[in-house]
Amino acid sequence: MSVIVIGSVALDDIETPFGKVEKIVGGAAPFACLAASYFYDKVKLVAIIGANFPKQEIDVWQHHHINTEGLQIDETRQSFYWSGKYHIDMNSRDTLETGLNVLEDFDPIIPASYQDCEFLLLANLAPTTQQTAIKRLHKRPKLIVMDTMNFWMDIALDDLLETIRMVDVLTINDAEARQLSGEYSLVKAAKKILNMGPKYLIIKKGEHGALLFGDDLIFSAPALPLADVFDPTGAGDTFAGGFIGYLAKVGTVNFTNMKNAVIYGSALASFCVEKFGTEKLKNLTEEEIAARVQQFVSLSKFEII
Ligand code: AMP
Repeated sequence: MSVIVIGSVALDDIETPFGKVEKIVGGAAPFACLAASYFYDKVKLVAIIGANFPKQEIDVWQHHHINTEGLQIDETRQSFYWSGKYHIDMNSRDTLETGLNVLEDFDPIIPASYQDCEFLLLANLAPTTQQTAIKRLHKRPKLIVMDTMNFWMDIALDDLLETIRMVDVLTINDAEARQLSGEYSLVKAAKKILNMGPKYLIIKKGEHGALLFGDDLIFSAPALPLADVFDPTGAGDTFAGGFIGYLAKVGTVNFTNMKNAVIYGSALASFCVEKFGTEKLKNLTEEEIAARVQQFVSLSKFEII
């Protein structure tokens, strides 16, 4: 059994009110794989990088037991490039540039050794590529989680809707949920999106936590109030990786386990934002993660007397 993560691997230029970095390793897949690797040791990556990608980064992933057999290297082109600038509230950002480069015609080849996949994370990527990955698995995984973003809603809505129909869990942020549904109320938005196909929907609300919808139930997870948010890039991908990694570890998919998975995903995401890029996700300990999860528990636990 394994977890497959398919998603972008990028070189990012990021500007936040705290500083500016250029060409640091990002993309949805590295954040998601590193996060999942803290819960599950059979995480398998499907992605593509270009000639300018720092290859020593692959050693870091392998050190985390991430299988990189499905990582393609195209030495003739540049890696996917993204640049973004955060507003002062750090909850919203502008995409300055997206250079698809190697992603433009990425053909996601699934190695034979990946066919034992039970948990599939379709991290942010063109919806048609996400669909191809599902179709190339001989057996439908027990759980398919999909993340996406406004970029694909703007340029490939029909493909996106078709892909959403094929998955079990969709994770998007509040602005994207509103854009996709045309509803301002997140409750109404969730109802409409669940009618589009997925059984569960997670709406990420940045520093305001996350909402899980499904089985006619709603769960609201807090976000940890952090004194310093350094760089929110990848928080959503980290969340998704922690979420699916935890579910793969417990093995059973139900609303109760999903609630816990949302908390573990949120805990990992709270580490991610403390440093630029994937830096903070490289050296966490089990004790640190357990302590952070306890902080989430005490933050939202109360008794009515
Ligand atoms: P997040 O902050 O969770 O939305 O993820 C940010 C990461 O997504 C960055 O590291 C980007 O490289 C990557 N990214 C940005 N735009 C896209 C896109 N259109 N497709 C795939 N990945 C993207």
